[in-house]
Amino acid sequence: MGDVFSQQVLAWFAKHGRKDLPWQQAPTPYRVWVSEIMLQQTQVATVIPYYQRFMARFPDIASLAAAPIDEVLHHWTGLGYYARARNLHKAAQTIQADHNGIFPTDFETVVNLSGIGRSTAGAILALSQQQPHPILDGNVKRVLCRYHAVSGWPNAPKISEQLWTLAAEHTPREQVAEYTQAMMDLGATVCRRSRPLCLHCPLQSGCQALQQQAVSNYPTPRPKKALPEKNTTFAMLRQGNAVLLQQRPSSGIWGGLWCFPELADESELGDWCQQQFQITPNRWQTWDTLTHTFTHFRLHIQPLLVELSAEQSNLNLPEGYVWYQLQQPQNLGLAAPVVKLLQKLGQGI
Ligand code: SF4
Repeated sequence: MGDVFSQQVLAWFAKHGRKDLPWQQAPTPYRVWVSEIMLQQTQVATVIPYYQRFMARFPDIASLAAAPIDEVLHHWTGLGYYARARNLHKAAQTIQADHNGIFPTDFETVVNLSGIGRSTAGAILALSQQQPHPILDGNVKRVLCRYHAVSGWPNAPKISEQLWTLAAEHTPREQVAEYTQAMMDLGATVCRRSRPLCLHCPLQSGCQALQQQAVSNYPTPRPKKALPEKNTTFAMLRQGNAVLLQQRPSSGIWGGLWCFPELADESELGDWCQQQFQITPNRWQTWDTLTHTFTHFRLHIQPLLVELSAEQSNLNLPEGYVWYQLQQPQNLGLAAPVVKLLQKLGQGI
C-alpha cells in the first residue's frame, strides 16, 4: 500500500485514467521507450498516428537498429526535435551490439542509453516492468509543486532534488505502472498548466496550493536573467532649431537608423568635437540618464546637450551626418530613445 497521495491517484486512475493508448497494449520496454521519447514535448493525440506507423515499420529493436538513419528520420518527419530520433536509433544500435538486442531492465544501464534521462528511464521501467522508480516529467513537477506548495523554479538543482525526493516518497511499491500512467494523465488532463480542474482532482483534500488559494503561483516560473548593463553617451549638438544626427552602421544595434553621435563618456566630448568639426564646445548640459532595454542588455544613455554658438554654426559636416530640423523634421528612421530625446528638445524651443 502506498501513501494517501498514491491511493487517491490510483483510485482516480481506475475510474478516469487512459487505458487504451497504443503503447499500453503489450507494454514491452521497447514499445514504452519509443512512446516516451515521442511524448517528450508532443501531445498524445499527435503522437498516436506517428507511433503506429513507426511500430509498423520498426516493430522491434533489431529492425530499428538495422534501419538507415534517413528512414528513421523520415518516420519522425513532422514530430520535430529530431535529436530524439537520432538518439533512439543510436540507443537501438547500442542495445543490439552490447545487450544482444534485448532492452536492459536495470536502471543504471537504461539511464546511460542515448537520449534517456532519469525520468524517462524510470517511466520505461515502471510502465513495462512494474519497477518502483519515480518519474519527474513536466506534468509531475507541476502536480508536486502545487500539492506541496513548493516555491522556486522546478528546474533549479535544489528544487529539482526536493521534487525527486517527494516523487520517490509518493511512488507506491505496487501498481507502479498504473500509478506512473496516472500521474502523467493527471498532470496532462486535470492539474493543467492553465485553468486546472481542481474540483475534479483526486488530490484536492491535501493540495496545499489549493488550500492557500494560490494555485496559479505554482510552479514558480523560470527566473528572468539579469540583463547585462551597458553605458553610452549621446552628444546632442544643437544650433537653433536643428540638432546633429548621425546614421548608424547597417549592422549592430539600430542598424541604419539615425541617432545622436555616440561617445564612450563625457570626457571624450571636447576631443571628439575638435576632431570631427574643429570646434571647442564652450558649455554643455548633462541631462538625466535614459535607460533603453534591448532583449539582451540594458543601455544607460547619458545625453549631453551642446549649444553651438553662432560662430560655430557653419560646421563642415562629414558624410553620414545631417542637421535634423526640430520644427520641420525630415523623414528619417530614428532609434527609439532618439525619438524621446528629440521630443524633449522640441519642447524646449
Ligand atoms: S487540487 Fe488543483 S492544483 Fe492541486 S493537484 Fe489537484 S488540480 Fe493540481
